[in-house]
Amino acid sequence: MSSIPSELSPPARLLLGPGPSPTSPEVLRALGKPTVGHLDPFFLGIMDEVRSMLRTVFGTQNELTFPMSGTGSAGMETCLVNLIEPGTRVLVGINGVFGVRMAEVARRAGAEVQVAKVLWGLPMSAEALLEAAGGQSFDLLCVVHAETSTGALSEIPPLRAVADQLGALLVLDCVTSIGGPTLELDAWGVDAAYAGTQKCLSCPPGLAPVSFSPRAQERLAKRKRAVQSWYLDLSLIANYWGAERAYHHTAPINMLYGLHEALRQVLLEGLPARALRHRLHASAFRAGCTALGLSMVVEGAGRLDPLTSVHCPEDVQEAQLRSFLLKEHNIEIGGGLGPMAGKIWRIGLMGSGSSRDNVERCILAMAEALSDQGFGSKGDALQAVAEVYAKA
Ligand SMILES: *Cc1c(COP(=O)(O)O)cnc(C)c1O
Repeated sequence: MSSIPSELSPPARLLLGPGPSPTSPEVLRALGKPTVGHLDPFFLGIMDEVRSMLRTVFGTQNELTFPMSGTGSAGMETCLVNLIEPGTRVLVGINGVFGVRMAEVARRAGAEVQVAKVLWGLPMSAEALLEAAGGQSFDLLCVVHAETSTGALSEIPPLRAVADQLGALLVLDCVTSIGGPTLELDAWGVDAAYAGTQKCLSCPPGLAPVSFSPRAQERLAKRKRAVQSWYLDLSLIANYWGAERAYHHTAPINMLYGLHEALRQVLLEGLPARALRHRLHASAFRAGCTALGLSMVVEGAGRLDPLTSVHCPEDVQEAQLRSFLLKEHNIEIGGGLGPMAGKIWRIGLMGSGSSRDNVERCILAMAEALSDQGFGSKGDALQAVAEVYAKA
């Protein structure tokens, strides 16, 4: 080998996109602690604490609650492959990219999939689901709580009522809501939920917390065939996370240190305080955007606080603004996906990234980037931001 690359020195980016969010300094410190064996008594204690903290953050008493080794999509796949056998009837609510992905995973797992679509940018509606169901019964109803591709937050109790009507278990994508907006899996009657570490938990990507209700557990026990995926088979994983501690795969030790610290930080702050913090900084950011002359993709009650989508004005180059922010200000924001590609920006104020300093930095940088493209701001955006904080 002619030359060995030098030791890594990553740029200090401010991550204000749809994920990953900034890893908090506490979590970064935890990740760097000495690695122990995955059956070490010290590590077994950590596993129990992680499970217990996860239950609190998910709002559940579910025994079957633990992190899967993999990103949020592995959590999605875990919920679906374990609850689906060939011919299982699944209704998926689609209001963005992640609903599309759930339908695809369910089809590949052999389910008979029906989809209910609403306009991207809207929360999922009970009416759309009932119409698509057409009076038939289903085994599973799958919906996304926080659609990160558009910035819409769906209200769960009305969707649970639909699941009851269909006779279905309710599967919920909580990847962008865990550690942000409050989660109440038990109160909402959610049967299977999955999440990810790299959004509002401010941990790097790599683990996917999942939780299964007693009803879902019964369904698993009644399976006729073994789960197609050996790696994601909950009956095997539960033997490692449960009392048996049977080897299945080597748990990502240091990532679990990171998740342990991330969950601790959430509980130290308190769940209601954390939800309010996400709300406050999202409101300030939106006020700043409005003053810049920009309009939001999602209006009203269905808005997701950890992620705001903003329309790109006609005469502004969408990708050029993002690269300006990255080059001139070290700030990463996201563009649109699917039908929204090139048309919107997605700004995440997630976990430790949700702060007044970050709102002001991002608004100032966007003002500069817009004016660089000759787009004149309407008002004093920083003033509009300050007014929201003054009222808080
Ligand atoms: C990010 C995200 C996922 C996928 O998670 P990965 O960690 O990228 O695999 C799934 N659902 C939603 C709502 C997300 O925001």
